[in-house]
Amino acid sequence: MAVSIADNLARIRAEVDDAARAAGRDPSSVRIIPVSKYHPVSQIREAHAAGYALFGENRVQEMVAKHAEVADEGIGFAIIGNVQSNKAKPVAELAAELQSLDSLSLARNLDRRCAALGRRLPVLVQVNTSGEPQKSGIAPEAAVDFARQLQQFEALDVRGLMTMAVFSDDEAEVAACFTRLTDAQARIRDALGGGYDELSMGMSGDFTLAVAHGSTCVRIGTAIFGPRVVA
Ligand SMILES: *Cc1c(COP(=O)(O)O)cnc(C)c1O
Repeated sequence: MAVSIADNLARIRAEVDDAARAAGRDPSSVRIIPVSKYHPVSQIREAHAAGYALFGENRVQEMVAKHAEVADEGIGFAIIGNVQSNKAKPVAELAAELQSLDSLSLARNLDRRCAALGRRLPVLVQVNTSGEPQKSGIAPEAAVDFARQLQQFEALDVRGLMTMAVFSDDEAEVAACFTRLTDAQARIRDALGGGYDELSMGMSGDFTLAVAHGSTCVRIGTAIFGPRVVA
């Protein structure tokens, strides 16, 4: 293997930093979450050795299995995919954060479980900014109302918003998704008087554009670990 995971991480970190500076932003305001879904724990350990301790997984079962293998090495997981109600328990118990909160019933379920565990779970609200029916997330127009409702859940530490932009070569279409997220953030801040600082947006194909639009968290799989082999 000519290019290592550590090389990829260093290259992406430099690209994120450049994009932040070009936008007049502090590079340290953007974190990178390597997305390890479908990749083995050996690759997670390689990225950990390169300085990364939080990894994105979109399937709860896969997170549970990997957590059992590497949690005692100081490695944690952010859930970035849809969570069915019957998977709320392992998320409340094991996830370091949840970036894909998109229903009040899931919020209620997680809040009750986290309160019982005596922990506060960091969460982001997923917003469907592309309008594609196959993507999860609340509608941008519902964001303020949803944010108000979430205020009742004391065991949820709501930090901001997450989105997946449309997958397209048309940069304007992708940028429009990012702008819908920052608009939703602005409306929530107006209504609630602040908060919601985190904006998780940007993946392998669009992360520099996302940083230009204010992303504070890019979630990168393929550009770090290579293509996923999905059985
Ligand atoms: C898989 C996934 C990513 C990473 O996608 P890449 O294109 O491989 O970087 C980011 N965010 C979410 C929600 C994902 O499911």
